[in-house]
Amino acid sequence: MPLCLILQLLSAVLLSILLFFLRSSNIFYNISFQVPVDLTSDYGGIIHGSPAAVFRPSSPEDIALLLKSMYYFPLHHDVTVAARGAGHSTHGQAQARDGIVVDMRSLPLSITIVDGDGTSYVDAGGGALWIDVLKETLRHGLSPRSWTDYLYLTVGGTLSVGGISGQTFKQGPQISNVVEMDVVTGKGEFVRCSEQENSDLFHGVLGGLGQLGIITRARINLRPAPPMVVWIRVKHHDFDEFTKHGELVVNSGEVDYLEGFIKFGDAPQSHQPKKDFSRFGAARCVKPRQPTAYYLLEMAIYYADDDDDDAAEEKLEKVLARVSSRSSVEILEVSYLDFLNRVRAEELSLRRVGLWDVPHPWMNLFVPRSQIRRFNDLFLRTMSVSCINGPIIMYPTLRHKWNLNTSIVVPQDEAGEDVFYVVGVLRAAPPNCTVGSSCLDGLMQQNEQMIRMATGRGSSHDGGGMGAKQYMPYLKSEEEWREHFGQKWKRFEELKSKFDPSNVLAPGQRIFKRKK
Ligand code: FAD
Repeated sequence: MPLCLILQLLSAVLLSILLFFLRSSNIFYNISFQVPVDLTSDYGGIIHGSPAAVFRPSSPEDIALLLKSMYYFPLHHDVTVAARGAGHSTHGQAQARDGIVVDMRSLPLSITIVDGDGTSYVDAGGGALWIDVLKETLRHGLSPRSWTDYLYLTVGGTLSVGGISGQTFKQGPQISNVVEMDVVTGKGEFVRCSEQENSDLFHGVLGGLGQLGIITRARINLRPAPPMVVWIRVKHHDFDEFTKHGELVVNSGEVDYLEGFIKFGDAPQSHQPKKDFSRFGAARCVKPRQPTAYYLLEMAIYYADDDDDDAAEEKLEKVLARVSSRSSVEILEVSYLDFLNRVRAEELSLRRVGLWDVPHPWMNLFVPRSQIRRFNDLFLRTMSVSCINGPIIMYPTLRHKWNLNTSIVVPQDEAGEDVFYVVGVLRAAPPNCTVGSSCLDGLMQQNEQMIRMATGRGSSHDGGGMGAKQYMPYLKSEEEWREHFGQKWKRFEELKSKFDPSNVLAPGQRIFKRKK
C-alpha cells in the first residue's frame, strides 16, 4: 500500500511541478511519511489507524492542489484523505487508515473581524481553535453567540458535526450561526458558499461530517461580549421536576445558557468558596445506584454591562422563582471568558493525574421530549451494573433554532414537540480498562445497547422505539447511515456524488466506500 500511496503523491508532486510555472507551490514540502503517534488516534483512544502520510498545508490552495491531483490523476484508487482539526473525535472519524491526513492546525492562524450591514462577523480559518477565536473577538468587545462546552476544538471540526452547548436553545447550534464559507471540495475545487451562493454546498457541508469538502474559512456572526456571567446550579431529586423546570426556562428564554447533568451519590460538600463548578467531578468511578441519582440544572445569565447589575439580579430572582427552592441553589459570578472556557481547568487537572489521555467510550444522542423519561429509565437500568466516570449531560433544546436545510439530523417527535433533549454519556475508561480489554468492550456494548433501543423506531414494548438520533454518530455501514439520515439520505448521497464523486474524503466516518 505505501508504494501505491507514493505513486498517488507523486501525481500530486507532478501536478505541483506543472503548476509551479503558474505560481509557486509548497506541496512537495508539505508531505511527510513520518506520522507522529498522536495523529494515529484521537481523543476517544479506541480506534487507531495510521495514515501513510501527513499533509501539512501552508495555505488553502495547497489543500486544493492535493485533492485536485487525486481527482484528476488517480494513480491509485484506494487513497483517501481526512481533514484533522484538533482530533477530538471519539471513534476514528478524523482518521484515514493508510491514506493522507491533512493537519488543519498547520495552516497559518487566520482570525479577522469583518464589519458589514450593521452586524459584525469573524472570518476564522477552518483549522483555528475556538479558544483563539474567542480571545481575538473579545479584544474587539465581541463574541460568537453559539458555543461548544470545550473550546480547544477547531472551527472546521465542530461545523462538520454541529457544535452545541447550553446556548443552543437560544442561538441555535454553531452551524446556524455561519453566514459564508470557503470550501475545498473532494474534486479540489475552491468554492465560496452561503445561503445565496452555492447554497447546496453551504447547507451540505454544515453538519456534513467532512464528506463534501474541507472548510478553510467560515464567517460567523458576532454579538457584543458581556463582561460577566452569573452561573447557577440548582439541584433536583425528582426527574420530572428537573425536566419540567428545564423546559420552563428554555421556553421563557430568560437565561443565556442552560444545561443539565445526572449525578450519583451525595452531592460534594465543600466549605471552601468555589471558583467554578465541576462537571467531571472527582475523576473516580461512581456506582450509579438509582436511589442516589440526582439532577443538576446549570444556567447562566450574562450581564450586558456594568450598569446592568439590577437587571441581572431581577432576571435571577425570576428564574429562581421558576425552578427552585433556595436551599438547593448555588450561585457564582465569573468572567465571560472563564465561563466559556470552564472545561479547560478540568482538562488540566485531569492531565496532571494522567486521566485525560485514556479511552473515552462516549455516546451522544438527541432524544425526543416524549421519550426522555423512558430514556432516563433505560440509562439507569443499563448503568446499574457499571460504574460511571465522567459527566452525564441531559438538557432540553428547541428544534426551531436549527437550520434543517443543513446536513445535521435531529429527531422528529411524533407529538410534534419543539423541545428535544441533548444527552451525552461522556465516560472515561477506568484504570486497566484498556483497548482490547473485555472491560472496554463491555462499556462499548452498553453504549450500543442503549443506542439501539433509543434510535429504534419499532415497538415500545421491548424498551425500544424512541426515535432518537445519534449526534456525531458512530455507525459502521451504509445501511445504518441510510437509517440515520432517513429522508435526508437521498439528498446527502446526491451531494456526495456532486462534490466528492470518488469518495475520497473523511473515510473515518464509514459512510461511503472509496470508489475504485
Ligand atoms: P476532528 O476530530 O479533528 O474532526 C472531526 C471530523 O470533522 C472528521 O470527520 C474530520 O475529517 C472533519 N473535519 C475536521 N476539520 C475539518 C474541516 N476543516 N473541514 C471539513 N471537515 C473537517 N461537541 C459539541 O457539539 N459540543 C460540546 O460541548 C463538545 N464538547 C466536547 C468536549 C471534549 C472534551 C471533546 C473531546 C469533544 C467535544 N465535542 C463537543 C465534540 C467535538 O465537537 C467534535 O468531536 C468535533 O468534531 C471535534 O473537533 P476537532 O477539531 O477535534 O475535529
